[in-house]
Amino acid sequence: MAKTLIVSNRLPVKISKNEEGELSYMPSEGGLATGLGSIYKEGGNIWIGWPGLYLDDEKEQTKVKEGLSKNNMSPVFLTEKEIKDYYEGFSNETLWPNFHYFNQYCLFDDDHWEEYKRVNQKFTNAILEHAEANDTIWVHDYQLLLVPSMVRKERPDMSIGFFQHIPFPSYESFRILPYRREILCGMLGADLIGFHTYDDMRHFLSSVSRLAGYSNSRGEIEYRNRKIYVDAFPMGIDYDKYASTAASPETLEREVRYRTSMGDQKIILSIDRLDYSKGIPQRLRAFEVFLETYPEYVEKVSLLMVVVPSRDNVEKYKRLKEEIDELVGRINGNFSRISWSPIYYYYRSFPLEALSAFYRMAKVALVTPLRDGMNLVCKEYIASKLDQKGVLILSEMAGSSKELSDAILINPTDQKQLVEALHRALTMSEEEQIKHISIMQKSLKRYNIFHWVDLFMKRLSQIKEEQKSHLTQQITEEVAKGIVKDYKSAQKRLIFLDYDGTLVSFHDDPNDSKPDENLIQTIEDLTSDEANKVVIISGRDKETLGGWLGHLKLDFITEHGVWLREYGSDWRLKAPISGDWKEEIRELLESYVNRTPGSFIEEKNYSLVWHYRKVETGLDELRTREITSHLKFLSQNRNLQVLEGDKVIEIKSSEVDKGKAATLWLSDEYDFVFAAGDDWTDEDTFEAMPEDAYTIKVGNKSTAAHYRCPSNKELRELLLSFTKW
Ligand code: UDP
Repeated sequence: MAKTLIVSNRLPVKISKNEEGELSYMPSEGGLATGLGSIYKEGGNIWIGWPGLYLDDEKEQTKVKEGLSKNNMSPVFLTEKEIKDYYEGFSNETLWPNFHYFNQYCLFDDDHWEEYKRVNQKFTNAILEHAEANDTIWVHDYQLLLVPSMVRKERPDMSIGFFQHIPFPSYESFRILPYRREILCGMLGADLIGFHTYDDMRHFLSSVSRLAGYSNSRGEIEYRNRKIYVDAFPMGIDYDKYASTAASPETLEREVRYRTSMGDQKIILSIDRLDYSKGIPQRLRAFEVFLETYPEYVEKVSLLMVVVPSRDNVEKYKRLKEEIDELVGRINGNFSRISWSPIYYYYRSFPLEALSAFYRMAKVALVTPLRDGMNLVCKEYIASKLDQKGVLILSEMAGSSKELSDAILINPTDQKQLVEALHRALTMSEEEQIKHISIMQKSLKRYNIFHWVDLFMKRLSQIKEEQKSHLTQQITEEVAKGIVKDYKSAQKRLIFLDYDGTLVSFHDDPNDSKPDENLIQTIEDLTSDEANKVVIISGRDKETLGGWLGHLKLDFITEHGVWLREYGSDWRLKAPISGDWKEEIRELLESYVNRTPGSFIEEKNYSLVWHYRKVETGLDELRTREITSHLKFLSQNRNLQVLEGDKVIEIKSSEVDKGKAATLWLSDEYDFVFAAGDDWTDEDTFEAMPEDAYTIKVGNKSTAAHYRCPSNKELRELLLSFTKW
């Protein structure tokens, strides 16, 4: 039976050794582990990851492997050096700061990068050990960005999902990474790539387009013969767990205990891991200014601040810790009274029931990261507010702010705004508090962690189905042999060949695409066989094609079927076509050329073409969108068609397309029909062909053709092999 493999840097387990050396396994209770629990604990499914401790001894490794396998987990053992360079180094000192816009903290160390690649390969090998055909693999987060393509390389048909839990930065930040292209291509090994927010997704798509050269249409990327989908899946929490913990006797007992020792002042709560992305010093300074601006709150409010230790062996984190310690000391030193402290500061972690009691007690939750992929603390706070009384102040730089628009949203670096937000929160009426919290609770209940897992997995399997139904067979050596065999045994053959992109590569200037000698020779070889009729079927004008190839024994369909010529005859129009529309459309296109450096207009007898291959990336997308909607409106009553080709937009009469023209050549006398093309105007040709024709798409775009080959080089090799007896 097909299974699912979950892959993340860390396994959802804490392994500890007692004094006798016996190992015990404690499942971890993180949100992700809970959400994915519904998957990895079932059937033969497995979670693959680092178990969190160093084991060199093989016997011990085997023991841990066995222990974990009982819990559907499989370990990837990492050495201290690997953790240092791959995890602490490249993941946390290169990717983490870059992805959170802290480029001043980025370390570019080639050794770290090499180790990152090696460890990603190690994870890949562990996956390959378990993966069988039809399995689904779901890779998590920034430590494993290369794994999707490493797995894809070995198992091209595998269904692979990837989810990034931290932000994806804007192209302007991401482009700074020396290894940027490898990273993108690593991720593009997946079939579905998920982010928390639409912004992350659009940043990723922009980097893919600018740095890897693959554009997208509504989040779909055509990449190496595969459609990849990119989408936003905001991760939720286990809502019921937080709601029920908030009602549990242990939580209530703790709340009473904490209240007794702290007093009855209003509590402002902040909970974060120690990290520069969380904006903790900025928050402390804002709180200090708040006490100065509104002295009436002295002795009336306290900031309960939990900072969970994290990465504090790293110098930057150590310095951050010192800064926080100093600020807390200064504020407490200045403002404290005998019976009141402005800040209760804990540098430690707490069990769930303690956090739940904090959430219950807090009048205000102050969640003000400078950047955060999602932020779960704010969601947990909302879920724990059983009486719906409380106020959430939330940074607009946290992914969760996109969902929680009923919070007081702030810019975390705007100190004044933060101070006023605190004042507003502390003076908000209970009625308003209930109104906002209840709206947010409704949304968090619905979009909980189980919903998130379900949505991602369903989308992934849907994509696999779609990919299967659109599968176009590659021309392998075996397939090519079959085509050549049929060619040779045929009595009469009809061969349609598109020109640009199919027989020759694209050039910035369309006039540079002249046929080379080899191509002329190949065509001559084909046409010298009396059994062959070869038709060049192109969007180009008859003058250019006639000039380049007119001396050969060829038939022509030019300008997508406006002008036709059979060998030995004159050019003829397929049907009388009016060109009255051209003036108005030309004027419009000229206005776009004026506004778009690098673009130009090509005029053909019965069509106009706007070329934008040399236009700045990004601006080209904007202009094509503008121009197509403009043209679609103008062309409605004029019987015109707007075609988007490879970096061109062509406007022509709807009466002509390549397919309609090609049917004029088709007849029963041919027992071998062959058509090759690369862009979507050739799709009309493919669709017009009889079912038993060989239709070949050049390139990786989706197609109605039966076969595909990667580039014009391979197509020309195939044509060459036709005439080699
Ligand atoms: N948390 C915890 N113990 C603590 C403090 C926090 O388990 O003492 C949990 C908290 O409940 C939340 C997570 O740590 O689920 C923090 O997640 P968040 O997305 O807010 O920040 P991250 O640390 O992932 O950047």
